[in-house]
Amino acid sequence: MEKVEVVVVGGGPAGLAAACVLAEAGVEVLVVERGDYSGSKNVTGGRLYLEPVRPFLPDLWEGAPFERRVVKERLTMMAPESSLTVELNSRRFRREPPCSVTVLRATFDQWLAEKAGERGAIVIPGYKVDDLLTEDGRVVGIRSADAELQADVVVAADGVLSFIAERAGLRARPDPQKVAVGIKEVIELPEEKIQDRFGVGPGQGVAQLFFGSITQGMFGGGFLYTNRRSLSLGLVLGTHALMEKKPPVQPHDLMEAFKARPEVENLITGGQPVEYSAHSIPEGGPAGMSRLVADGMVVVGDAAGLALNQGVTVRGMDLALVSGALAGRAILRAREMQDYGAATLASYEQALKASAAYKDFATFRHVPEVLSNPRLFEEYPQMACDLFEQIMWIGAQPKEKMSRTALRTVGKFMRPRYIGDLWRMRKI
Ligand SMILES: Cc1cc2nc3c(=O)[nH]c(=O)nc-3n(C[C@H](O)[C@H](O)[C@H](O)COP(=O)(O)OP(=O)(O)OC[C@H]3O[C@@H](n4cnc5c(N)ncnc54)[C@H](O)[C@@H]3O)c2cc1C
Repeated sequence: MEKVEVVVVGGGPAGLAAACVLAEAGVEVLVVERGDYSGSKNVTGGRLYLEPVRPFLPDLWEGAPFERRVVKERLTMMAPESSLTVELNSRRFRREPPCSVTVLRATFDQWLAEKAGERGAIVIPGYKVDDLLTEDGRVVGIRSADAELQADVVVAADGVLSFIAERAGLRARPDPQKVAVGIKEVIELPEEKIQDRFGVGPGQGVAQLFFGSITQGMFGGGFLYTNRRSLSLGLVLGTHALMEKKPPVQPHDLMEAFKARPEVENLITGGQPVEYSAHSIPEGGPAGMSRLVADGMVVVGDAAGLALNQGVTVRGMDLALVSGALAGRAILRAREMQDYGAATLASYEQALKASAAYKDFATFRHVPEVLSNPRLFEEYPQMACDLFEQIMWIGAQPKEKMSRTALRTVGKFMRPRYIGDLWRMRKI
């Protein structure tokens, strides 16, 4: 039977980051990807935070196919008939190197696969792994429909529903409480129109997140990212909330209603939808993570449950890249010692837990629980919109003092359920 030093299952950012680090150091590494090419089956909202990643992959980024650097942040609270948008512009977002950029996965992942290839990794698309090879409880390789391949280490980088980590006994079957579903459209628009519509210059972009009535009280929200010649628009919905919803709603109906809102319609009008996709996202925080190492195996990226939705930011690609790079480094250490047991590979877990990206993941561990409160998506956006509407509205009747309007609004929060919500908020 053929043998390589390392086989990586899954050619997304997590697997390819591991492959880059390993191949650079001269390790024989094979990446197997079930899609026709890296990026063909991958879905993301679209914004990659680079700052947490650079320390671990410092030399990778020249020529990267980033769409736009994000220079403007918008957060929109949606009530059924009104909305309130907060917009942040800051010079900090314009400094070099960019702190966050938008990406389209079909091009970004292919480019990353090329980088891994240039460093010496072999990336094989159209290769679906069906099972693990094990010997005396340790992982020793992979099995596909027509081949078996041995390896010193298998890197499970096969995404949110990681069958590989499950087969190794490192995680249970996905729990709907700990997974969300995302749907996304890519809508083409001319480059100049995007710049005019969003008030940005060439190469500059906007990230806009939406929360409130668009998810009908369910955990989740909307996103809009500007690419060079397209917009990435979508919704994320808690799977469990969706399953429990009475009467039931379909995600694509919510998406159509979202697109029909004037706040969104005015931004996408005249655009041509060119891509539609749906995908799961880990939402369980550290409580939803798999174990990270076994004898002969490490788990990285979404496969390990490493994604963080703070409501105001969505992260997963940076965690995927960081975990992949750190897993690669730990495998190099294990190779020096010629010991691929779990105890040696555990240096990956230690390094990951010391990284800023993971520390954020741990700091915001209570976010899933706090965000499961329907009032955050119904009552609070409505209250915020009402307050501003009352302040801004000039009608036929005389107005009261603004301080009185504000106090009346604050007074509404003096009820036990709102105080309880505020108390729970301290956890995030
Ligand atoms: C709607 C949505 C919005 C998001 N928004 C953002 C965002 O704006 N910013 C952000 O940072 N993150 C975002 N995320 C999360 C981010 O996309 C993921 O965290 C990231 O893609 C994880 O990368 P990965 O390499 O671990 O997994 P994936 O990118 O899922 O890669 C796994 C790969 O494994 C392959 N594979 C699976 N099974 C097998 C098998 N048996 N054999 C061979 N290959 C296999 C798959 O084809 C795939 O290519 C979003 C996710 C979704 C769904």
